[in-house]
Amino acid sequence: SQLSEESRALISKRARLLGPAYRLFYKNPVEVSRGKGVLLYDKHGNEYLDAYNNVVSVGHAHPRVVEAVTEQMSTLCTHTRYLQEGILKYSEDLLGTFGGRVGAAGHTMFTCTGSEANDLALRIAKHYTGKQGIIVTSEAYHGNSELTAGFSPSLGDSSPLGTWVRRVGAPDSYRIPKENLGRWFADQVAAQIHDLERHGNGLAAFIVDSMFSSDGVYAHPVDLLKPVAEVVRKAGGVFIADEVQSGFGRTGDKLWGYQRHGIDPDIVTMGKPMGNGFPVAAVAVAPEVVESFGRDMRYFNTFGGNTVAIAAAQAVLNIIRDEGLVENSQKVGKLLRDGLQGLASKFNQIGDVRGSGLYVGVELVSDRAAKTPDAAAAAAVVNGLRERRVLISATGFHANTLKIRPPLVFSAANVDRFLTEIEAVFKTL
Ligand code: PMP
Repeated sequence: SQLSEESRALISKRARLLGPAYRLFYKNPVEVSRGKGVLLYDKHGNEYLDAYNNVVSVGHAHPRVVEAVTEQMSTLCTHTRYLQEGILKYSEDLLGTFGGRVGAAGHTMFTCTGSEANDLALRIAKHYTGKQGIIVTSEAYHGNSELTAGFSPSLGDSSPLGTWVRRVGAPDSYRIPKENLGRWFADQVAAQIHDLERHGNGLAAFIVDSMFSSDGVYAHPVDLLKPVAEVVRKAGGVFIADEVQSGFGRTGDKLWGYQRHGIDPDIVTMGKPMGNGFPVAAVAVAPEVVESFGRDMRYFNTFGGNTVAIAAAQAVLNIIRDEGLVENSQKVGKLLRDGLQGLASKFNQIGDVRGSGLYVGVELVSDRAAKTPDAAAAAAVVNGLRERRVLISATGFHANTLKIRPPLVFSAANVDRFLTEIEAVFKTL
């Protein structure tokens, strides 16, 4: 479709004012002006089905979050150097969700973004282990700071990785036999630990997003991370579960993505949906791991854990519980995957449907037998859906995997609408 005069003008104004590093979604970018639940509206009143935004996970403009933030902002907004009950109540509630060592006696440290949380997590891990090395998956994204960008290979060849960084292939369940996946993954990590040791870095941490979001969305098998957790522990490294994408009920069966794999990480980092769009993120850490860091250093983050951020986070956690959103994520996510699986029998481009809860990946291929990635088809579906006012995106090294990740309040009726629209788009390919 043609860009309107209005869009053209906004796009060039944006480029002039925000500069060259920003990217827009869609060939025909959407100008949104308002959101409610799973719906977005442009200024002409057109409605869009949001099947992508995992930040507003309890729904756009949820009234309880709006009220909590407004009320707190009009009472007091201040930082963590004063005594506050609110942050303690929230930490207690949050830590109560983890189980394991982090849950039993762990601590919560607040940041504003997932990048800051991962940055802090690695600093803690380095201090604890006295080592430098970190292992990530080959297309991982863990943040935008100098440190975290240095272990985020998905930023591409122009973004330098640290010499202390090693990569392992993601557990591509579509191409690697499932029985071997956990062992295969752990063996790669063991080899990279050996390499880090040979080069004098040693292993500080292994960090993983249990949904492998930027690698291509891999959710199974659920015992996948057990062997690798053992390998990391044996080497004396810190296991960091990056729950920025997979946390807070996204994956359906559990509140945290790593819990699906039955492991006990040393550090859990989180962000995105934590405040339903209000900037709040955190590091939850087992006590022994942060002890020396706390003794030798101080930690202060001006905005991290401020009273308004905590009000937002507390409201979100309450809503997830009160509205049964983990269960909804599981139930509606299954409907969505089943529906997409049904479409796979009609459209040869659908090579694989995978995911957990309301985190779904659909890998598109040009040849099913050879499993040849088809980025052009993925771009056509993403842009075709946008023209039908349904919003998703694509991910993975080849950008050929549709990434479908709606707010957790997505309903069965929303799934029907989504399936109707995506089927119409597939018919045009
Ligand atoms: N980790 C993961 C897995 C992420 O997906 C992201 C953001 N896409 C981050 C960390 C960084 O979070 P933020 O953008 O809040 O800094």
